[in-house]
Amino acid sequence: MKRSEAMKNLAICLRASLLAAVTLAVPMAYAQDAGVQRPAVQAEAPAAPRAKNVILFLADAAGVATLNGASLMAYGEPLKLHIQQWPHLGLSETSPVDQFVSDSANGMSSIMTGVKTRNGVISQSADAVRGKQDGVPTKTLLEYAEERGLLTGVITSQSIADATPAAAYAHSNDRGKWGEIFPQAFAPRFGDGVDVMFGAGRRKIGEQLTALGTGFDKLARQHRRPIHATLEAVDAKNQRPVVVGDDMDVRAATLKALDILQKSPTGYLLVVEWDAHTDDPREGLENVANFDKLIAEVESRVDLADTLLLFTADHSFGLQVDGGRRGEALLDGYEAWKASGKASGSKDGIVRLKNVLVNDTHTAEEVPALAIGAGAERVRGYFPNTHLFNVMMDAIGWKPDMATGN
Ligand SMILES: [Zn+2]
Repeated sequence: MKRSEAMKNLAICLRASLLAAVTLAVPMAYAQDAGVQRPAVQAEAPAAPRAKNVILFLADAAGVATLNGASLMAYGEPLKLHIQQWPHLGLSETSPVDQFVSDSANGMSSIMTGVKTRNGVISQSADAVRGKQDGVPTKTLLEYAEERGLLTGVITSQSIADATPAAAYAHSNDRGKWGEIFPQAFAPRFGDGVDVMFGAGRRKIGEQLTALGTGFDKLARQHRRPIHATLEAVDAKNQRPVVVGDDMDVRAATLKALDILQKSPTGYLLVVEWDAHTDDPREGLENVANFDKLIAEVESRVDLADTLLLFTADHSFGLQVDGGRRGEALLDGYEAWKASGKASGSKDGIVRLKNVLVNDTHTAEEVPALAIGAGAERVRGYFPNTHLFNVMMDAIGWKPDMATGN
């Protein structure tokens, strides 16, 4: 070895040990004086912003074509929905473990628990047999939130015991067992259960409760929690309101829930479902357009620096826009179809309007997942819907329990 090379090696060696010493020394100095600016050599990539709050907007059955149709119907142009301006988009695959096409039970269970299951099963493992045999309860994001002391809310345009909202707070081998599903909100496995519950389904849930020897009044007395029939009946002082109505004004319900949940010092999880099935194309597309407006309103009330907003669907639906032109109504022929009586009864499963074709069934293709706010950046590419559970957990900085298998 030449002398100059030896000197160079020594210099490299010294520089390396000096660097090591600096690297070791800095955290100690840093610990002694938290006010000290971290030196440039220690600079790391800034940590992704952490979400304190998560709001999941679930448009039931809203596939890519349904969002497209909603924009065309409501605004006469594509890409006019508010959520279509959000920066993060992925395509979420919704199938259950044994088939290609999902129902709401498997679809929402997968999103809420990170575990795919079978159609008809509410947040239980895939060995559940619908109506016959329980699987293992799979822990829901709402249960994680309750366990960690966040405030939680579930809102739906549908029955509060229907598959989509149920998958957030209950576990059942059959989505049809509303009489068993609804009371689980009052006997939570974690925390004190859902704090704000606004949904519909009062008559049918009531009937099933009665058949099981209980009822809204009995449940309310047992758990010292009134179960109101309308939003208006809720006392302003009630910070854990439950409303099971004949129907539900999702906008009023969501804004009311936000007023309560946003007071939480520990953060909140809010799940809002709005039906978007387009078996009645105008009704379905109007629901999507109205949901979109509500989402814009909610966005204006939250701080995106600490709140994740996520929009997705539990499964897709067989709607296609296959005609139409700018300046003309998308749903040309809707009124005639409605008047023909084909909308109710004698269904052949197909709705043929001039510019819109509806194959009245769930379909297998991936659904949009759109996100904005803290932790939204992981929504990208194609992924199984269980990924959305991880996106929400990661956004808040939680690790799933290994014990529960999810
Ligand atoms: Zn659904």
